[in-house]
Amino acid sequence: MPETFTYKFDTPVYKGETSFSTGLFINGQFVDGSNKTTIDVINPTTGKAVTKISEGTPADVDIAVKAAQDAFDTVWGLNAPGAKRCALLNKLANLMEDHFDEFAALEALDNGKTFSWAQKADVPESIACIKYYAGWADKIRGSTIETTEDKLVYTRHEPIGVVGQIIPWNFPLMMMAWKIGPALATGNTIILKPSEFTPLTALLMAKLINEAGFPPGVVNIVNGYGNTVGQAISEHMEIDKVAFTGSTLVGRKIMEAAAKTNLKNVTLELGGKSPVVIFDDCDLEQAVAWSSHGIFWNHGQSCSAGSRIFVQEGVYDEFLKRFTETAQSLKVGDPFSPDSYQGPQVSQIQYDRIMGYIESGKAQGATVHYGGHRIGTEGYFISPTIFTNAEPNMKIVQEEIFGPVGVVVKFKDEVDAIQKANDTSYGLASAVFSQDINRALTIAHKLQAGTAWVNCVQQLHPNVPFGGYKQSGIGRELGEHALNNYCNVKAVHVNLGHRQ
Ligand code: NAD
Repeated sequence: MPETFTYKFDTPVYKGETSFSTGLFINGQFVDGSNKTTIDVINPTTGKAVTKISEGTPADVDIAVKAAQDAFDTVWGLNAPGAKRCALLNKLANLMEDHFDEFAALEALDNGKTFSWAQKADVPESIACIKYYAGWADKIRGSTIETTEDKLVYTRHEPIGVVGQIIPWNFPLMMMAWKIGPALATGNTIILKPSEFTPLTALLMAKLINEAGFPPGVVNIVNGYGNTVGQAISEHMEIDKVAFTGSTLVGRKIMEAAAKTNLKNVTLELGGKSPVVIFDDCDLEQAVAWSSHGIFWNHGQSCSAGSRIFVQEGVYDEFLKRFTETAQSLKVGDPFSPDSYQGPQVSQIQYDRIMGYIESGKAQGATVHYGGHRIGTEGYFISPTIFTNAEPNMKIVQEEIFGPVGVVVKFKDEVDAIQKANDTSYGLASAVFSQDINRALTIAHKLQAGTAWVNCVQQLHPNVPFGGYKQSGIGRELGEHALNNYCNVKAVHVNLGHRQ
């Protein structure tokens, strides 16, 4: 039997207790992995383990797939009316609301994000996402299509079947909500693999999924490593679709695995190196505040982080001065401290990776204008960092650092700004700051990215599609678009006459 994780939070911002099983969640039961091995869950604030969770294996993926297929064939899929799926998703959202602060505290403990930001963003946005897709569950519809008078043609949007979902560690609960919301609304059954670095909120969700009354097997959660459980999901012959959020490197592996096996349907939400373009005619105070949030929010561990900041010559010096003052003012510290803006990076691996990029920037000749160093002696804290004098071919300009490291670059005019901003293999998000609406929208349309923010950054909404151009992904999450990721469209031709 897997152990129960019970933890008492006694912090300045939250006092409370959490308790749930650390097992794999298969067919509505919490079970040990078939090898009975475990994975340590590390608190990034201290670098010490807080608990262990069961480690899944490819054999566990097989068991979960069988449970998901049985559920699909008997109690879910075409057997569960939309109204039932809607009611269950709404019940789940209500239970999440009952556990609102507990979720925020778990994210702070497990991922290191601040409790206050988890309260402001991760938890409410996850609940809003589940509610949004609850609203769609009884509105999935096809259309009738005019052809000839003696024929009726209509389409049905049918669930794909058993879907695999693999998610990262930067927004553990939110990424889960973005995945399970549309998949359940459209009637699919799920094998979800959380990141091995941040499994805790998914396990609390598993408990609530049972409490909400989802039939066993509809949602299965198999914790484990990417190269075992993740790989087994991508290669599985009985999994009909895989939805992945994570790095471009792993996205490629997933597509390869799908291509070499059953050609399963693949959607990918990948990395980014998003540009923020600031013109002389911007509201400078706003531009500084938003660009700081764009790169430093969530410790820079955001796929849409505005990590390349292009500033027009006329305001460059003043922008850099104020941007640096803002970075200096950000309190880095304990995620449970009320005035912390930035907590630790998620893991030792990420800490080392980010420090490696900072060293490479220095070695390639860029200037560390601010920060660039560790904070404290325990945990994985890194100062907000600003680079200047960076050249387009440097690693810190081209590669996703996924840490609190921004590069500020000067530009001359609109042509120069667009050339620099689009000089990347990524295309997830972008932002433009200008008080001239014609200029702002012209630039927004020319930026090669799935999202363009005008005079703001990091805005997401369950109704609004999100996803990447270029090597930032395939497909769109959120909004009505995400429903298409989880439906097969069937065309039905009915002969109304006697024609052969
Ligand atoms: P990652 O690619 O290392 O891991 C993501 C998930 O894939 C994890 O669950 C991991 O265990 C699994 N995985 C690893 N190797 C695998 C393999 N061979 N086969 C199958 N699964 C495997 O990414 P990460 O470090 O967890 O997250 C950071 C990345 O995620 C960044 O690149 C970031 O930009 C991206 N991201 C993108 C979005 C988006 O919406 N576009 C959102 C959040 C994060």
